[in-house]
Amino acid sequence: MAPAQNPISSKHVAVIGAGAAGLVAARELRREGQSVVVFDREKQVGGLWIYSPKTDSDPLSLDPTRSIVHTSLYESLRTNIPRECMGFTDYPFVPSDDVSRDPRRYPSHKEVLAYLQDFAKEFKIEKMVRFETEVVRVEPVNGKWSVRSKNSGGFSEEEIFDAVVVCSGHYTEPNLAHIPGIESWPGKQIHSHNYRVPDPFKDEVVVVIGNFASGADISRDICKVANEVHIASRASGPDTYEKLPRHINNLWMHSQIDIVREDGSIVFQNGKMVYADTIVHCTGYKYYFPFLETNGYINIDDNCIDPLYKHIFPPALAPGLSFIGLPAMGLQFYMFEVQSKWVAAVLSERVTLPSIDNMMEDLRLSYENLEALNFPKRYMHRLGRIQCEYLNWITEQCGFPHVEHWRDQEVVQGYKRLMFQPETFREEWDDDDLMKEAYEDFARKNL
Ligand code: FAD
Repeated sequence: MAPAQNPISSKHVAVIGAGAAGLVAARELRREGQSVVVFDREKQVGGLWIYSPKTDSDPLSLDPTRSIVHTSLYESLRTNIPRECMGFTDYPFVPSDDVSRDPRRYPSHKEVLAYLQDFAKEFKIEKMVRFETEVVRVEPVNGKWSVRSKNSGGFSEEEIFDAVVVCSGHYTEPNLAHIPGIESWPGKQIHSHNYRVPDPFKDEVVVVIGNFASGADISRDICKVANEVHIASRASGPDTYEKLPRHINNLWMHSQIDIVREDGSIVFQNGKMVYADTIVHCTGYKYYFPFLETNGYINIDDNCIDPLYKHIFPPALAPGLSFIGLPAMGLQFYMFEVQSKWVAAVLSERVTLPSIDNMMEDLRLSYENLEALNFPKRYMHRLGRIQCEYLNWITEQCGFPHVEHWRDQEVVQGYKRLMFQPETFREEWDDDDLMKEAYEDFARKNL
């Protein structure tokens, strides 16, 4: 795709969300000459990283009338990848001189929020944000976009924009695994979205479903106060039954749950049974855009948003509607930045998108690949091993350098450590060479 000959067309753009994705999108759009309004329900920037001890009124978050809290952070949360690879490219996430800040390589959630707030301040992004303003409806109208919003004072407004960039996050609407018998299981249940601290689980027997980032952390957090914690992991073989090592003496790993019963028992595929007080579902989240009205053009089926070219543009509505940050895991902040650069360059007409037919053909091939690999539709936005290839493809669209070697490798090795040394990965690592390369890169670029 070649850059267009007559660049720079200024558009009026609405950005929904002032989390990491919305902040960097606003900055990139403004750099390309757009006039930008960012909407956020919260009182401050940071999105998911604004910790709150409050939770949804329904611990499983199933009740559609529940009061909703945006964040899914728990109090003890520290980053799950090294800080160097989390930062934006010209604003590294390095330890601050301020002694009240957290200098660790895997810092606490407060440090990430402070970083995002520093970023917003440095680039004067807050000026573009309408705080405590919820977007309640977005729909196409005569080639433009109507955005209806409501502020905390109850004032409702409809405005017309040339384009809408959706950066509303996707870690608030829980996904629950189907468990045979769960309807009559008598114990307590909670989704990790509503987990904050271990205290309520004191002396309990707890089953944690899921063993990726949140499941691994939360099970270790709870076993500090609980009698027993049993992890049910879909990724483990059917016979898995393992007492976890090190200093922990009340944590077990099992295969997935086979059935739960009215008498409170939980039977795992490995044949073991426990009587549990609580099940904690660390089973991920669903994409959810309740404000979006596209007359059925965009559908979410099996957690796959369709049709979406390169996880960003719905072909027939592009470039007026775009999404930043949908693929989960890996280099999140970096991905938000390069996706935003591409969207901004397309909106300013410096770069053109392929025809609708070509975008749809590209999508058809992606679905074909998914099917050939025997993956369900819900894997569509999981980039896994092809993340680097995807990111580099996007950087090429907007004339930006490829992802740095150290950044790509830090995240690859970081995830391996997370999987194989979940108790120690934040304190023990063997990639000092990559860290050195990162800091040399920052110094060379005068950052
Ligand atoms: P959010 O941060 O969720 O921001 C979305 C914003 O949109 C919010 O401020 C919300 O108020 C606003 N909003 C939503 N709907 C509306 C509306 N209708 N109207 C107005 N405003 C609206 N990533 C990492 O890189 N490293 C990590 O260590 C890491 N740890 C994580 C731990 C957990 C528990 C989770 C759930 C995720 C983690 N992630 C991590 C991924 C993380 O989601 C991203 O890093 C990133 O912060 C997401 O940013 P976002 O801007 O897409 O969404």
